[in-house]
Amino acid sequence: MELQGKTAIVTGAARGIGRAICVELAGRGASIVAVDILADPLKSMVSELQDSRVRAVDKIVDVSDGGAMRQLGENVVGEFGGIDVMVNNAGITRDTLLLSMDDDQWEQVIRINLRGVYLGTQMAAKAMLRARSGRIINIASVSGIMGNAGQANYAASKAGVIGLTKSAAKEMGKRGITCNAVAPGFIATDMTDVLPDKVKDTVRPLIALQRFGQPEEVAAVVAFLAGPAASYITGQVIQVDGGLRT
Ligand code: NAP
Repeated sequence: MELQGKTAIVTGAARGIGRAICVELAGRGASIVAVDILADPLKSMVSELQDSRVRAVDKIVDVSDGGAMRQLGENVVGEFGGIDVMVNNAGITRDTLLLSMDDDQWEQVIRINLRGVYLGTQMAAKAMLRARSGRIINIASVSGIMGNAGQANYAASKAGVIGLTKSAAKEMGKRGITCNAVAPGFIATDMTDVLPDKVKDTVRPLIALQRFGQPEEVAAVVAFLAGPAASYITGQVIQVDGGLRT
């Protein structure tokens, strides 16, 4: 129960990796503020946590909405007394080759994946400054490190998340706040479920462990970064990719 007494905000919490992060952090004692735009699955996840006696609330917020994110920060500080852990996990894909990409596909992905992380990081950092401590964990992707055909928008957003994370770490270290990124490879969620079997079969042999990861395997690394064992780690990008060939 190393996160007992801590409050964690997790975005994109309704399903996939975000949901697994909520369960893992709650299992270590944290109170959970679960954020998403999908009301029903979010509410059912939060009531499962409450059933196991975790303090958890759901907040329907679009991470790319600046006013709503700032209001979320104020509400959480008011209700919980502060923010100890911020996990910027919400993200989307709109995959297509660069030559056929339209402006909407570019802008939607940058708005949610990069602007959303900027807003979440800034909002949490402001609350954490008062306590002179805090952990910010941003979910990037190996696509942001190695690029990926058909994902110019997504890879650019995730490379941006990595640059933002390293800069925030440098700005906030003196205030006791750490900021790290986790870069998953192929993880079995709804996001990768839509990939054609042919693509999955091409990718699997490129992974040293020869399988897609599970959301819980990403959540465990996020929980490590949120916990006391990671007190001297900041500005890092931890790949959780089963040894994906780069
Ligand atoms: P997922 O199953 O699609 O879940 C993402 C969640 O984020 C959904 O509940 C989604 O709601 C929510 N969301 C989307 N836009 C939002 C917004 N504007 N505000 C608040 N919530 C929003 O995805 P996942 O696979 O768990 O991915 C989680 C994170 O890991 C993402 O940042 C993703 O880029 C990253 N990642 C995933 C993989 C992978 O292989 N799965 C690999 C590398 C990185 P809606 O359904 O309504 O959109």
